[in-house]
Amino acid sequence: MTEKSLAEYRAERCSSIEENLKIIRDQVAEAAIQSGRRPEDVKLMAVTKTVEPYFINYAIDHCGVDLIGENRVQEFLGKKPELHLDGVDCHLIGHLQTNKVRQIVGEVSTIQSVDSLKVAREISKQSEKIGVNTDILLEVNIGEEEAKSGFRYDAVSDAVDEIAELPSLTIRGLMAVPPICEEEDVLRGYFSQMNKLYIDIKSKNPHNICNNILSMGMSADYVPAILEGANLVRVGSSIFGARVY
Ligand SMILES: *Cc1c(COP(=O)(O)O)cnc(C)c1O
Repeated sequence: MTEKSLAEYRAERCSSIEENLKIIRDQVAEAAIQSGRRPEDVKLMAVTKTVEPYFINYAIDHCGVDLIGENRVQEFLGKKPELHLDGVDCHLIGHLQTNKVRQIVGEVSTIQSVDSLKVAREISKQSEKIGVNTDILLEVNIGEEEAKSGFRYDAVSDAVDEIAELPSLTIRGLMAVPPICEEEDVLRGYFSQMNKLYIDIKSKNPHNICNNILSMGMSADYVPAILEGANLVRVGSSIFGARVY
């Protein structure tokens, strides 16, 4: 690419990011109201995996993005020095191997993808070691899919009890990625089950649970997710365009 065409490419992509965010925010607000809440009760996360820092910074500096999510520890740590993260909250949303915990603790506020007791214990241990508190969400394998990680639905309650005892971490809620499904009512059923579990766990409220995040809904399904109670939606490709790996 010549200099000029790079500049053109960037300008075009930036303006589409800005437009996409406007449309998505309107839809998020509408769905929030439709579900009896206020627009500000539903948080929009920009999922920035595979997106170059230039465009992430544009979304932060010019479009008011203040919450980003990354999937991979290595990718995030590599991009982080280039990102304009003043006032921006960063979450890890991808599967985390126990041996990578040490590298990510202290670098994000929240790990949404806690899918085992083992990884929770390691987050606690590494957080304690460097004197930070890490917020976590428990990832639920709501469709009980073989290929997906996450706690089984009926194991979440016991896992919460155990993890709540660990120092230097706080359970903030639940996260899920439901199976890809064609039928809207099946999909809404998964989201609704998640909301029930979220409310159950909230009502338990042991000392280090500050349960107020229900993270579900991505580009294809953030509206039904909000209608069923999501208060944090994770949107990537609808903001930044299709991912190129
Ligand atoms: C990639 C990803 C998203 C965003 O997906 P899109 O379909 O691009 O919006 C959300 N959540 C998780 C866990 C992801 O890995």
